[in-house]
Amino acid sequence: MNKKRIVILGSTGSVGRQTLEVIAQYPEKFSVEVITGWNNTALLAEQARAFLPKTVVTGDKKNYQELKDALKDLPVKVLAGTEALNEVVSGEVDLVMAAIVGFAGLMPVLTALEHGVPVALANKETLVVAGDIVMETAKRKNVSVIPVDSEHSAIFQCLQGENGGIEKIILTASGGPFIGKKTNFLVNVKRDHALQHPNWHMGEKITIDSATLMNKGLEMIEARWLFNLKPEQIEVVIHPQSVIHSVVQFVDGSLKAQMGLPDMKVPIQYALTHPGRLKNDFPRFSFKNYPKLTFDRPDIKTFRNLALAMEALQKGGNLPCIMNAANEEVVHAFLKNKIGFLEMTEIIEEAMNSCQRIEKPTLADYQQSDQSARELAQKLIAQKSN
Ligand code: NDP
Ligand code: MG
Repeated sequence: MNKKRIVILGSTGSVGRQTLEVIAQYPEKFSVEVITGWNNTALLAEQARAFLPKTVVTGDKKNYQELKDALKDLPVKVLAGTEALNEVVSGEVDLVMAAIVGFAGLMPVLTALEHGVPVALANKETLVVAGDIVMETAKRKNVSVIPVDSEHSAIFQCLQGENGGIEKIILTASGGPFIGKKTNFLVNVKRDHALQHPNWHMGEKITIDSATLMNKGLEMIEARWLFNLKPEQIEVVIHPQSVIHSVVQFVDGSLKAQMGLPDMKVPIQYALTHPGRLKNDFPRFSFKNYPKLTFDRPDIKTFRNLALAMEALQKGGNLPCIMNAANEEVVHAFLKNKIGFLEMTEIIEEAMNSCQRIEKPTLADYQQSDQSARELAQKLIAQKSN
């Protein structure tokens, strides 16, 4: 059987590294054609040595020479720059794992789909920013977008063998490290505390998004596009144990949930093997270790980012794109200790209220909205950090 030829965008990140771990189990099933990174050139070179892809890309041109030197004895092509990220997804490949973080992942995903290449999508910001254009492209080119995010993989798995009939979906949320806390606590939270997620080990940006609950808001918007739902069909429930990964409620009142240990390698593997499954040796779930599963409502009065994302979901247009851009900027600033935990929300809200709204944006409109929301957010960050 022919091997599935994979491109991993963002192979040096949390999802990217775990994708390589999954692939390493099945050398006869998959071949890694391309890997890409940004700052972590040493790890990218190490991965190239272990997997011998045809092409290795650093998105940041300043790292080109270092990467080229590190791989000079290997038969691999070395490329640099964001254009190269678009080039490598349009070649002779079978699946692109989109594991870049943020808006930067949008163009390579669109390019892959335009070239008829299926995408395993971890990069949720792509759908938050331009979900209408991404899904329209996938439909027009008749290619799949396979979710990697654990909640969306859960829903996708629950929908296998179904033929419509979704009443609503219920996205589960761990609640993050500050579950149950109130504003008087959150106002003093610093980066190192916010980076300690109870259940998942992930990249820094999504870990902060999980602490503010913005991650769940982004996931509501992601779900809206992936499964073609109305905003009112998407619900969030807090489930601190993170073993029910999400639930679909059908029109006949039946519920289907997908469960498992909180381990991203499982949804990553499913995205790679879909529609089939392959045996692995990952740790197995046992009810004995989880005698109590609990559920609660999200506290959107305290965790206002989730309320803002719900507003963006409801209003649509370029508002989710504006929110996402401001969020990327404030998370970056918070990680650099420039602004406080709650100031992130204030800046996002102001960007959402001030940036020009467009009801039916084009791709160029999204790019422009992203840019202006970032500029405004940066200005507000500078004011707060003075
Ligand atoms: P990481 O920060 O760990 O990894 C991001 C990857 O993207 C790295 O390879 C990084 O390169 C690369 N990168 C960063 N900036 C750019 C850029 N401007 N252009 C091109 N490449 C860039 O993130 P995660 O793996 O945690 O998350 C990736 C995506 O998957 C996010 O959208 C996240 O929301 C989503 N996701 C992640 C989950 C997780 O468990 N981590 C779970 C569900 C979804 P380098 O490291 O070399 O600088
Ligand atoms: Mg998730």
